[in-house]
This record gives sequence, C-alpha cells and structure tokens, in this order.
Amino acid sequence: MEQSFEQRIKNMPNRLAPSMAKDHPNLPVVKEEGCYYYGLDGRKYLDFTSGIAVTNVGHRHPKVVQAIKEAADGLMHGPSGVIMYDSILRLADELAEILPGDLDSFFFANSGTEAIEGAIKLAKYVTERPYVISFTGCFHGRSMGALSVTTSKSKYRKFMQPSGLTYQLPYANESECPNGIDPINYVIEKLEKDFESLFSHQVTPEEVACVILEPVLGEGGYIVPPKAWLKKVREICDRHQILLIFDEVQTGFGRTGHWFAAQTFDVIPDIMAIAKGIASGLPLSATVASNELMKKWPLGSHGTTFGGNPIACSVGLATLEVMKEENLLENTRNMGDYAVQQLEKIKEKHNVIGSIRAVGLMIGIEIIDPYTGTPNNDGLMKILNLSLEKGVLFYLCGKHSEVIRMIPPLTVTKEQIDEGLRMLDEALT
Ligand code: PLP
Repeated sequence: MEQSFEQRIKNMPNRLAPSMAKDHPNLPVVKEEGCYYYGLDGRKYLDFTSGIAVTNVGHRHPKVVQAIKEAADGLMHGPSGVIMYDSILRLADELAEILPGDLDSFFFANSGTEAIEGAIKLAKYVTERPYVISFTGCFHGRSMGALSVTTSKSKYRKFMQPSGLTYQLPYANESECPNGIDPINYVIEKLEKDFESLFSHQVTPEEVACVILEPVLGEGGYIVPPKAWLKKVREICDRHQILLIFDEVQTGFGRTGHWFAAQTFDVIPDIMAIAKGIASGLPLSATVASNELMKKWPLGSHGTTFGGNPIACSVGLATLEVMKEENLLENTRNMGDYAVQQLEKIKEKHNVIGSIRAVGLMIGIEIIDPYTGTPNNDGLMKILNLSLEKGVLFYLCGKHSEVIRMIPPLTVTKEQIDEGLRMLDEALT
C-alpha cells in the first residue's frame, strides 16, 4: 500500500543518511511561498533562513516559477562544451553588469563547493604556484579541496586534514583587542604580523597562488570584519602578486545590501565564487574572474556535465529581474537596519543575548550564558525550538553553534520582521 508522508518520515532514518535527515530542525513541509513554509502539520511558518541564504526573492516567486515552466518547454539539459544556448550567455552578460571591477567571465557549476574548487584550481593554474592561504572560521564547502581550506567544521575533518598545501591565518577578531587600543588598528597590525611570520617561517610569498576568504564569516558565526582589514588583505596580495578569492556563496546576491559584499566593503577580489541566491533554489553556481585570467585556465583542465543548466540559468535571469524590479537591495538595507534596532530592544530584556552582528539582512544573534558570558549552545537550541513552536524558523551558526542566524528573504516586510521577532521575544521569555 502507498505510504503517506507521515509514514515515510517514520522510516526516514533507514532511507536517508543521518546528515541529510537529523540536522536541526528538519521541519516537514508541504509547500513554500513568499516568506513562508507550510508545514505537514497544517501550520504556516515564517522562514528566517531563506533556505540557508538561497531564496532571496522569496520562495517560489511567480516569475521564477514561470521561468522554470517556459525553459522546460525548450531545453532541460546543456552539457557544457557540447551544445550552446541563449540563457547561459544572457545570464553571463547580466551578471557581468552587476559584478564589480573586471569580474566578467564565468565557469558555471551546480553548488557553492564546486565554485570554490574551480576558484582554487584556476588560481593554481594561472599562477603556477602550489600553496593557498585561508582564514580560520571560514567555511568553503565539504569536498576534499574545499575542506582543505575550511576550518569552521574542523571537528568533522578527522580523515580530511588540510592537504599540506594550505596555511591558515586567524580571521579579524576585534573582540580579542586589549583595552585602550583601537580595535581596527589592532586587527590590521595583527594581520600584517601574521602574514610576515608565515612568509618568514613557513612559505615564501612566491609559492602562494591565492588567499581565500569569506568577506563576512557565515557558518563561522556571522562576524563582520572592518573594511580596512579586507583592504589590507587586498594590499598584501597585490604586494606579492597573490590572487585574492572572495567566497561570496553566502554573502552574494543582495544579502549584505549590495549585489556583493565586495561592493559593500569596496574591495574587489581577482576571483569570486558565487552560488546560493543566484537561482532561487535551483542548483547553479559560478567561478568568476576577469576574462584575461579565465583565458589562462587551460582548456580541458576543468569541466562539468550539469553546470550552467538551461533551466537554472533562466531562473537566474528571472531572479535578477525580480531583484531589480522590487528594489530588493534597498529593502535589504532598510529592513536590516530595522531588524537590528528591534533586536537591540529585545536584547535589553534578555541577558542571554550577547552581541548582535549584522550587515544588511545577514544577522547573527549570539546566545551566551549570562553568568559566564560564554557560548551557550543548549540555550540556543531551546530558543530555536521554542521559536519554531511559535511559528518562526531560524537556523544556527558559530564556532560552538551559539549564534542564531536571521536571514529572511530579501523581500521581507516590517510586519513580517515584527511578527518573527515577537515570536523570538516570547521564546526568550
Ligand atoms: N561557501 C560558503 C560561504 C557557504 O556558506 C557554503 C554553504 O553553506 C558553501 C561554500 C558550500 O556551498 P554548497 O553547500 O552549495 O556546496
């Protein structure tokens, strides 16, 4: 007999790997629309996760759904190098318009991880140098190459240690700054010293292909570095002809209030990895560089069967159109400011809230033990579960999974922010 969704859920542990089925909160849903998920339980849940920074224009935007239907009437698959189609070329043109500097050439893939793999590979091929420098706390994906530059999930890296061709430096951490010293000067001087020490003891700059980082720490806890720190990273790379890679998988497509964090911070990398928000939930990503750099990537040294799928590219175009028509960059800046103001008021009432860190609609709410000030994962899990019971879905991040991340679709309204934060406030109470 045909099983119902409920019955299948009961059997799920046998059918899906635990990492596909057991993470928090694993809410059974039957429909998604705008800022909401509709649960199997018949309830409506306000989504403050955007499917982990993916559904920036809201769930199932009508223009996105229409683009899928129209594209599927024509082409569904376009193996790269075998056939060529209009949507991939149009998307490349449109993306080149919104990307900063001369980032105008694309290798399309399916996931953020693949875009990162491509970025590192490109840097190594172009420079003919073996080493990569990454930053602690950054997350770049779970394939072998991406894990070799990732530390935010290091507890899961037992048999996947960095390849020996990567070095890690500490990310900007203003909270470590001793009293009486300007925190921005502190992190910049520390960065210079860390590079100097690495270059004098472990690797020469001439052996380093690239420096890779997230311009805002995502999985690692929503840490926003000072603009001057990112500019210093750019300066050090230029000094040694090292390529700078920005992982904008999470920060891209309006999340920070500009198309990309590179524009928010006014620092332009040589290579960028973009994914998540690009196609509203369809698998699409890209390694991006200048055409000059891309041309040096030897033909045949990289490839893909599914990357740049025609339906995903059409959805990418529809997503960009919606973002422009609905002024979502401006809405992100306004709603981001509004949400932080409201959160500061909630923080005054609840001493478990530590720092609130935000840029645009990328908001991290740290949960601490009020007596010790230390990260409080147990408290956070209780708050997330209670919030969900009330009807708002949040996700977590941070070194100790102690940060509530609030990343609603960029279409979010003041009323929806009020609704979600009222439920969070009640959960905290
Ligand atoms: N880079 C960053 C900054 C991410 O946040 C993620 C995913 O969360 C990835 C890379 C990996 O992307 P994907 O899960 O699409 O492979």
